[in-house]
Amino acid sequence: MTPQTKEIVLAEPRGFCAGVDRAIEIVERALAKFGAPIYVRHEIVHNTYVVNDLKAKGAIFIEDLADVPPGATLVFSAHGVSKAVQNEAHARGFEVFDATCPLVTKVHIEVAKLAREGYEFVMIGHKGHPEVEGTMGQLDGGIHLVEDVGDVARIQPAQTERLAVVTQTTLSVDDAAEIMAAVRRRFPDIRQPKQQDICYATQNRQDAVKVMSRQVDVVVVVGSPTSSNSNRLAELARKLGVESHMVDNAGELRPEWLEGKSRVGLTAGASAPELLVGQVIDRIRELGAVSVRRMDGVEETIRFPLPKGLKL
Ligand code: SF4
Repeated sequence: MTPQTKEIVLAEPRGFCAGVDRAIEIVERALAKFGAPIYVRHEIVHNTYVVNDLKAKGAIFIEDLADVPPGATLVFSAHGVSKAVQNEAHARGFEVFDATCPLVTKVHIEVAKLAREGYEFVMIGHKGHPEVEGTMGQLDGGIHLVEDVGDVARIQPAQTERLAVVTQTTLSVDDAAEIMAAVRRRFPDIRQPKQQDICYATQNRQDAVKVMSRQVDVVVVVGSPTSSNSNRLAELARKLGVESHMVDNAGELRPEWLEGKSRVGLTAGASAPELLVGQVIDRIRELGAVSVRRMDGVEETIRFPLPKGLKL
């Protein structure tokens, strides 16, 4: 970093959301109550540090329920699971704790309710993301995935009188709005959610990056490559014309990214711990930053209750 680098600008809010806090606490409480090992289907949240930390405490992460021994305690990740996975877990008699974010469960409930009324669905989301697999897996069929505006013309619902749209919770707010507009142009009568499915944490972190991007020369996002909402933050800054980089930890920060930059914006995806943000701040200070300024931002007070059986 060159001498003109002066300031780190910290986005507010950033980092852990209520769904991630709850999911990690579920694994930690299950470990405390039942002892290791606790099996977790898929990364509990998409963050390398969090997963390694829980592995060290006795969590075993698996993708296939065949790898879980009889009688084990199993936690579903924050992204949610399909009905098939739920049914298999119950059939095998595991003690299950569901760490699906309640905001994802809300989408599952809506899909199940409308499906009983004969609806088919358009889902806006990223193919292969576990949340999308979980939501699409609430039904045996009748959910048509669109990833971009081009997909909207390609899908072929069996009927259009009873059609509803749902979205992944961690999308780019702007991209989702564009795709939603295309969906409405093709299916003017489509039923939309009363409240958007994109969650408050995704919205707030993207709003903060929009404000921050006007004030900085480069944006650094703390988040793992698998984290959808972290990727969207880096992408958003780039779309706004600001160079941006994602780092999983402070060691990944490259000094040349900061060369000639006087203000470095720093944020973190909803699954990235504040501890890592602190380490990145220390690293940027080592490289020459002299001050840290916290932006004003929305204060998040939302908390989700723990499942029965894990409450204190
Ligand atoms: Fe829930 Fe949103 Fe956090 Fe995902 S990012 S866990 S949907 S609050």
